[in-house]
Amino acid sequence: MTVVKTPEELVSLRKTITQKIGFVPTMGALHPGHVSLISRARQECECVIVSIFVNPTQFLPGEDLDAYPRKEKADIAICEKAGVDYLFMPNIQSMYGGKDEVSVLAPGLSGYILEGNRRPGHFDGVLRIVMKLLNLVQPEKAFFGKKDAQQLALIQQMVRDLFMNVEIVSCETIREKDGLALSSRNVYLSPEERKKALAISQSLGKARNMIMTGETSAEKIQEMMLETMQELEVEYVAITDRKLHSIRTIVPGDTLLLIAARVGQTRLIDNFWI
Ligand code: AMP
Repeated sequence: MTVVKTPEELVSLRKTITQKIGFVPTMGALHPGHVSLISRARQECECVIVSIFVNPTQFLPGEDLDAYPRKEKADIAICEKAGVDYLFMPNIQSMYGGKDEVSVLAPGLSGYILEGNRRPGHFDGVLRIVMKLLNLVQPEKAFFGKKDAQQLALIQQMVRDLFMNVEIVSCETIREKDGLALSSRNVYLSPEERKKALAISQSLGKARNMIMTGETSAEKIQEMMLETMQELEVEYVAITDRKLHSIRTIVPGDTLLLIAARVGQTRLIDNFWI
């Protein structure tokens, strides 16, 4: 595995690669969720490129940019073991030219609901960095997690709207045995908070059971989910179609159950695709 530190290095390296490239962008502190994306890329592509970059423009003032877990050494070892060919680890300066930069903006409607409502501008930062990374790597396929459902939808829309020549592959959420979705932010949880956080995946599981046994009312399901998460500070429970529009009636195959909740200081998101 080769570690690449600058965009310039990556550009010249890219010119030498003729194989089909699979790309996995991450912010590091890698866990088995990230590894599952890398494995998928490994299966589907001849050359696997991973990036690790804690992207400042997607953090709002007051969010956890400085505290975000950074585990460079461990991440390099994980990538090596997972069969990554090139690991791109640029610094902030090399990725952002300055304040007066050309950029892309998330769409006004879908970019500013749910996560975008709670974190206005977050998806502008996400799309901006993903655009830069895709332009640098020019992969055949790029792999993203369904865990970040709205991010995935917006990246798919950017690729469509801007005629970008890449296939976006969506990958299943990897969970702990007890159901908690893996997240780099789980390290913030105390043992007690870790237990409380289980209410998130439990409410999703109960909702799925209700749907499987015939419930179609989004309102009833939402009520049950809020009740299950009584002990958490829930930011939103949303029941939408795959385009993230709110729905009143569940349509299997086109429904998302989405949650954002705070457990102590930690903000967690999770979802089920129904
Ligand atoms: P992050 O490092 O949090 O920016 O995540 C990098 C990529 O890994 C994104 O496409 C995420 O959706 C994906 N990801 C994060 N957590 C999981 C998980 N538990 N299972 C599968 N993919 C995940």
